[in-house]
Order: sequence, then structure tokens, then C-alpha cells
Amino acid sequence: MSVNVNAYQQLKASLTAQGVTLLAVSKKKPIADIEALYQLGHRDFAENYVQELVEKQPQLPSDIRWYFIGHLQRNKVKYIAPFCTQIQSVDSLSLLQEINKQAQKCGRVIDVLLQVHIASEETKFGFDEQEVFSVLEQGSLFANVRIKGLMGMASFTENTDQVQREFSTLKSIFDRARQQFTELSLDTLSMGMSGDYPLALRWGSTMVRVGSLLFGARS
Ligand SMILES: *Cc1c(COP(=O)(O)O)cnc(C)c1O
Repeated sequence: MSVNVNAYQQLKASLTAQGVTLLAVSKKKPIADIEALYQLGHRDFAENYVQELVEKQPQLPSDIRWYFIGHLQRNKVKYIAPFCTQIQSVDSLSLLQEINKQAQKCGRVIDVLLQVHIASEETKFGFDEQEVFSVLEQGSLFANVRIKGLMGMASFTENTDQVQREFSTLKSIFDRARQQFTELSLDTLSMGMSGDYPLALRWGSTMVRVGSLLFGARS
């Protein structure tokens, strides 16, 4: 088993003191690793792939809160809608509509974040700033989704100035969205991973998504 218990306990304590939520990103990691963190009291786990999540979820305790953070195709929403706590990777209005539809079928309200494209890399998904505001304007039309905030991934680079610029951009979009859409009670800014979470915290992250620091490198 490869869970780094010390790293977990230190990170968890420091984030709790700052009022920041820790998501343990367990993609490509075995059930035993998730159970090890569960035994330490952890409940918030994040996965990137629908099939992997759907296989793992029934094998693990039902009080785990599952967050979906990977790119999500509309035709796969139905598989995770029955149990997923939050979908952070909403990157189109049509995906939001599909989540609403599937949540309604399950008699649930699913929390979502809008993914914002802040990195310089072309490959990262997400809305631009204008699109975020246009989706938020329609946010209250969906009875079975609750938009809780924004999620973003910074560029994968050693250039910490660039990473900070990207996090500060996301933070400023978040602040303006909160001011403009008070009726939505946006309270979650999900940014920061193993390599850049200290910078994300400096720029106002309320939720970090940490995988390799807790579980070791992924193969
Ligand atoms: C894999 C992943 C993470 C965790 O990455 P680590 O570098 O292992 O901490 C966080 N967020 C997203 C969206 C991911 O895909």
C-alpha cells in the first residue's frame, strides 16, 4: 500500500485550520489505498473516469462523498448521477442540462462547479470568463443542479509567476461572480493540486484536489 499517512495528516491539519476542503484524488489507485485513507477518517474522494468510479463506488463505504473532476461526456452522466456528490468539470451548457435531467430522474439535486479555462495549454477544458457569466445567468433555471462555484487547473509549468497569474485570474472571476449572483450562494473555488496547491491557497482556494502527494505517483 502506498498511502503517505504523514503527508495526509499534515496536509489535512493545515487545510482544516484554514477552512479549506481536501479532495483526495484517487484515480488509477486501488480500493485498498482509498480504504486506508477512509480508515483515517477521510470521506472526500475525487475521480476522473466514469467507468473507474462506477466500478469502485459499490465496493466502498456508502458514506464516501464522490467528486467527479475529469472531462465528462453527456452520454455518461447517467452512470454517476445516482450517487455523485459534486461534478466539478462542467464545461458546457449542454452538459449542465444533461446533469439536471439525470439528477431529476434520480430525484436528486447535484452540486456542480463550472470549469474555467485558465491555463495556457490548449488541452485543458473549460469555459472562458464570458461564458461563465452567461451560464451563471441561466443557473437558476435548473431545478436539479446547484452551482456552487468554479474549478480550474493552472498550466503544468515550473514558472510560478505564470501559475499565480492564472490562479489570481480565476479568483477574480470567482469574486465578481459572487458579487453579481448573490442568489446562487457560490462558495467553492476548487484550485490547486499536488504540485501547486500552496500557490492556490495564497490566491484564495477553498478546495484543493490532491492525488500523488497522498497516494504516490500514478503509473
Ligand atoms: C489528477 C488530477 C488532480 C490531482 O493531481 P496530482 O498532481 O496527482 O495531485 C487534480 N485535479 C484534476 C482535475 C486532476 O485530473
